[in-house]
Amino acid sequence: MSSEVPIAVVTGGSRGLGRDTVLKLAAHGIDVLLTYRSNRAQAEAVVSQVAAAGRRAVALPLNVAVSASFPAFADQVREALAATWQRERFDFLINNAGIGIHASFMETTEAQFDELANIHLKGTFFLSQKLLPLMADGGRIVNLSSGLARFSLPGFAAYAAMKGGIEVLTRYMAKELGARRIAVNAIAPGAIATDFGGGLVRDNPQVNATIAAQTALGRVGLPEDIGGVIASLLSSENGWINGQRIEASGGMFL
Ligand code: NDP
Repeated sequence: MSSEVPIAVVTGGSRGLGRDTVLKLAAHGIDVLLTYRSNRAQAEAVVSQVAAAGRRAVALPLNVAVSASFPAFADQVREALAATWQRERFDFLINNAGIGIHASFMETTEAQFDELANIHLKGTFFLSQKLLPLMADGGRIVNLSSGLARFSLPGFAAYAAMKGGIEVLTRYMAKELGARRIAVNAIAPGAIATDFGGGLVRDNPQVNATIAAQTALGRVGLPEDIGGVIASLLSSENGWINGQRIEASGGMFL
């Protein structure tokens, strides 16, 4: 990693956990290239907040479900690094963008399965692959998993299977990218009150109360519970953590 201000690429940085991660990274002195799928106004609002915190940020559109678009996206990242930072490399990649689909095992369609696979597993795999030439040796990658990869709740078979795949992929990436001194870890949040899954955890009082009752710290998670975990994982003090799954769930289903 260079001695200059570190630069992080955060996918899905316009809302939810990704947005909080962008803001916490900025507070830790890290510049950010964030992506959004469709919500440009919210992404630009995050860019403004980063600027207000004294750091630089750029927002680019990206659909992580469309791997064919990744080479062109990598070109855009290269151009943004040159134009905004006069740099050729970034330091950290946070594979965060994602959606949830709630459907029982028996009712999950192939289209739903494919969408989840494309976004979470294939997207993380090939976006990382295409961006790694632009990443500095000694950098770090954080993949977003989920508590649902450890415990099982009805309605998340396909989603959780993808997150389980992310955790295995994390170890393999760590193994192979160690040659470039790149550490790769997975953060597994418990249920967090965001727009995710139609805002179910945030907006359904019964779901919210049920999860809070199963969480040692007595409430559901908030986006603010996660961004700081990711920012501190990227600090130089935590550089020896590699190939790990780290759950941040307040002690859900212990
Ligand atoms: P939100 O719905 O709040 O935000 C999703 C973000 O991802 C937005 O920035 C959105 O962009 C972007 N996004 C969605 N789909 C795509 C896509 N196809 N391509 C590119 N960007 C996309 O979700 P959360 O913040 O809650 O979730 C973030 C990550 O955390 C996900 O990987 C999720 O699986 C994981 N997670 C979430 C938990 C929760 O309970 N919320 C628990 C455990 C893990 P735009 O604004 O443009 O739509």
